[in-house]
Amino acid sequence: MNELRLVVVGAAGRMGRMLTQIIPDTLGVRLTAALERPGSPALGADSGGAAPNGVAITSDVGAALGDADAIVDFSSPSASVELARASARARVAHIIGTTGLSQEDLAAIAECARETAIVRSGNMSLGVNLLAVLIERAARALGPAWDAEIVEMHHRLKVDAPSGTALLLGEAVAHGRGIDLGENSARGRDGLTGPRRIGEIGFASLRGGTVVGDHTVVFAGAGERIEFSHRAEDRGVFARGALAAALWTRGKPPGLYSMADVLGLTG
Ligand code: NAP
Repeated sequence: MNELRLVVVGAAGRMGRMLTQIIPDTLGVRLTAALERPGSPALGADSGGAAPNGVAITSDVGAALGDADAIVDFSSPSASVELARASARARVAHIIGTTGLSQEDLAAIAECARETAIVRSGNMSLGVNLLAVLIERAARALGPAWDAEIVEMHHRLKVDAPSGTALLLGEAVAHGRGIDLGENSARGRDGLTGPRRIGEIGFASLRGGTVVGDHTVVFAGAGERIEFSHRAEDRGVFARGALAAALWTRGKPPGLYSMADVLGLTG
């Protein structure tokens, strides 16, 4: 089978650099373009950085998509929505790792998924997606009498909170309990908050240093507590997951898919 022709978006960013570093060692994929925004100081540089790969960073989305099977995108919410529209027009699969997407952004992406295969996940690692399955089962078994709190810590440069992964885990709790996360979450408590509301799903975000991503879901019951934790040790886990997702989209019909679909964890 031919290699999958892949575009990396945000190629000069933290995740983009990790992707261009591991693509040469990943069987079945070939980097055909590396994108950054128009005016970026990175334009024209070799996307391989210290290990040149001959693919210069460009802002020409049309040319990049014209010669691609899939794009892997860890950039910004506005860029990801714009790229979803371009990918839908070009019928190129779109792997979206960007977090901080609004409800409107998500609706726009779902619309684009009518035209092409889109895999979107706030966390592309196998460990976290398996954790989400376990959390959903735990939440279903324990019910709302066990208070669910989600604590996350990330590096000091992260711009959105709670993390996409914390929200993914929150969705798993909500799904397990058969409730809507938006209507039942407490996102940051301060001041005279009053007692905890029964059934709410709490979020707390810590920021500092170079932490790649720590998440703990606490189920606190009367006199006992269960904690599920995941710690990402380097960004490679997200990059490898995103590449697995890109390979998985080959031959898939248009649709909005999750990492649980990619990893066969659904059902
Ligand atoms: P980063 O270092 O800031 O990289 C983002 C890159 O995207 C930057 O180089 C940025 O350029 C570029 N970009 C912005 N708009 C663009 C556009 N229109 N076209 C092309 N490139 C554009 O951030 P990061 O740490 O790599 O994270 C990126 C996103 O992925 C964040 O939302 C983060 O939370 C998320 N993330 C998700 C996972 C997951 O598993 N799902 C894992 C890690 C990170 P400028 O600097 O010029 O804006």
